Amino acid sequence: MATASHRTVTARRCSITCSETGRQSESGFFDVLEYRHTERSLETALARVTFLRRAVPDWHMSTIFSQIVAGDIPARVVYEDETTMAFLDANPLAPGHTLVIPKDEYERLNDVPEEVAADLYATLHRLVPAVEEAVDADASTVAFNNGEAAGQEVPHVHGHIVPRFDGDGGGPIHAVAGEAPDLSDDELDDIAADIDGRV
Ligand code: 5GP
Repeated sequence: MATASHRTVTARRCSITCSETGRQSESGFFDVLEYRHTERSLETALARVTFLRRAVPDWHMSTIFSQIVAGDIPARVVYEDETTMAFLDANPLAPGHTLVIPKDEYERLNDVPEEVAADLYATLHRLVPAVEEAVDADASTVAFNNGEAAGQEVPHVHGHIVPRFDGDGGGPIHAVAGEAPDLSDDELDDIAADIDGRV
């Protein structure tokens, strides 16, 4: 359901902008396309977006969360500052399920500039106790789906704050990955050294 509503709204609104200024004819072209997107069927709009994504290197389509930041789509906003925003998830896994985002669009955690990452963590730090207290939760699971293979549906970094309750039947974060690998001490040492060498 989440994917369907995301796609529908994105395709209907389809706010495509050319980031390169001074290309008037292409700007006009985009305006026309934008108009047509609002008029045509979802399938046609999606096909056109796919075409543009391939054909135009500097096009940009807003994520659903950017449209929330812009005020184009309603959301239950619970916090906002200069660089970050938090709002209730539209399909909550628990009462109080909140998403925390950087206002600017970054797809993955490693795309977020350091200063914004610090702001994002500060907002999470502030929101977690507020959310827990608001719904009288016993705990919370705080997590990012970072990339499609990890289940990220909206390509705009967002941290989930999911309130948890004693006996709520949910699992720990350990339950999200596939079968646990059987790694030897040598393999673990190699992986640790590899990570260490990259930071
Ligand atoms: P992901 O799977 O990308 O980590 O999570 C995306 C989350 O965004 C989902 O939990 C989904 O319910 C939520 N979501 C998708 N579209 C909207 C929307 O338009 N408004 C709000 N508030 N949440 C949304």
